[in-house]
Amino acid sequence: MKTLGTETAFEVLAKAKALERQGKDIVHLEIGEPDFDTPRNIKDAAIKALNSGCTHYTPSAGIPELRQAIADYISKTRKLDVKPEEVVVTPGAKPIMFFSILALVNPGDEVMYPNPGFPIYESMINFVGAKPIPIQLKEENDFGLDTEFVKKMITKKTKMIILNSPENPTGGVVTREQLKVVADSLSGRNDVFVLSDEIYSRIIYEGKHESITQFPGMKDKTILLDGFSKTYAMTGWRLGYGVMRKDLAEKIAQLMTNSNSCTAAFTQMAGVEALTGPQKEPERMDEEFRKRREVIVPGLNNIEGITCKKPHGAFYVFPNIKGTGMDSRTLQDYLLNNAGVAALAGTSFGKYGEGYLRLSFANSIENIKKALERIAKAIKT
Ligand code: PMP
Repeated sequence: MKTLGTETAFEVLAKAKALERQGKDIVHLEIGEPDFDTPRNIKDAAIKALNSGCTHYTPSAGIPELRQAIADYISKTRKLDVKPEEVVVTPGAKPIMFFSILALVNPGDEVMYPNPGFPIYESMINFVGAKPIPIQLKEENDFGLDTEFVKKMITKKTKMIILNSPENPTGGVVTREQLKVVADSLSGRNDVFVLSDEIYSRIIYEGKHESITQFPGMKDKTILLDGFSKTYAMTGWRLGYGVMRKDLAEKIAQLMTNSNSCTAAFTQMAGVEALTGPQKEPERMDEEFRKRREVIVPGLNNIEGITCKKPHGAFYVFPNIKGTGMDSRTLQDYLLNNAGVAALAGTSFGKYGEGYLRLSFANSIENIKKALERIAKAIKT
C-alpha cells in the first residue's frame, strides 16, 4: 500500500473546508470541477429513469442504450467505427485508469506518462510495481508533448504510454503531428498500449481535439478514456467510460463485476440524454470558461513574481511562480492560510511541477477577481 499515491486536490479541499468552518472566507480554485449545475434535461432524464424503475443492477459493461450512444458519439467525434461491445461504462472515468493499468501492466514493465500530469497515473503505475517513465512537459514548449523523448524512451519493456490532451494541470494540447510521431513509433509494436485520456476533449480554446485513435492501427492499441464529469458538469454523478478492443473490454467489464458490479442504472439513463439531447448547455459552459481564461491569465501576469501562459484547453492555468521566491508547496499553504485562496502546488502533479501552481478557473469571474486581488496582496507583503 506504501506505493499507492493520491490526489492532493481532495486533501486541500478538506483543509479549506476546515478553515471555512472556523469562519474564514476561502475562494476555491483547487478542485477540478465545473461550478455549473448539471443541465436540466439530464437531471429530468435521471428523475424519469428513477420513477420508471431504473433502480436495479445493469450489465457490468453498461446498459445497451448507453453503450450504443457512446459508440455513436465516439465514432462521430473521432471519425472511427466503434461498436457498443467496445465500450465499458464505469462510475466516473477514473476507474478506466485503474482497471486498464491493473489489467495490462505487470511488475517491471515501463509506463510513460505526462509529468506534470494527473497524479493517479503515477500512483497506479507504482501500485502495480511497474517503472514510471515521466515525460516532462515544459513551459517553453507550451506544455506540449516531447515526441523525441517518447521515441527515444520506447524500449522492449515499454507496456503503456499515457497521453492526456487537453492536459490537466497545464492546459497543454497535443497536436495531430505530435500524435502521428507517437503512432508511427508504435508501428510493429502490438504489445504496447496507449491510454488516451480525452476527458477534456470538449473544452478546447484553440484548434480542435485530435485523438491518437485516428491513426492506422492505433484504435486496437488504445484505451480511450472519456466521460461526463467535465463536459456536462456531472462530477458527482460518477459516470465515465472507456473505449477499447472487444476482448479487452470483456476483461475490463470483468473487473467491473469484481468491484462495482455496475454503474448506477438511472445515472446511465441520464448519460444517454446527455449524449443524444441538446448540446447548448455544454457549449455555453465552454464559452464561459473562455471568458474566465481572459480574466485569469492577464490577472496573474500582472502579479509580481508570477507569469502565466494561456492554456489551450481544459479549465486550469499553470502559472510559473518561481519569481515569488517560494517553492510550490510553501506558496500553496501560504495562499490558503494567509490569503484565503485554495490552489494546488504544481508538485501535486509530479516532480516537474515544482515552480508552478495550478488554479482552476471553473469558478465565477467575480471569485476569480477576488482571488487575484488576494494573491497579489499576499505576495507583496
Ligand atoms: N482524467 C483527468 C485528466 C482528470 O482531470 C479527471 C478528473 N479530475 C479524470 C480523468 C476523472 O474524471 P471522473 O472520474 O470524474 O470522470
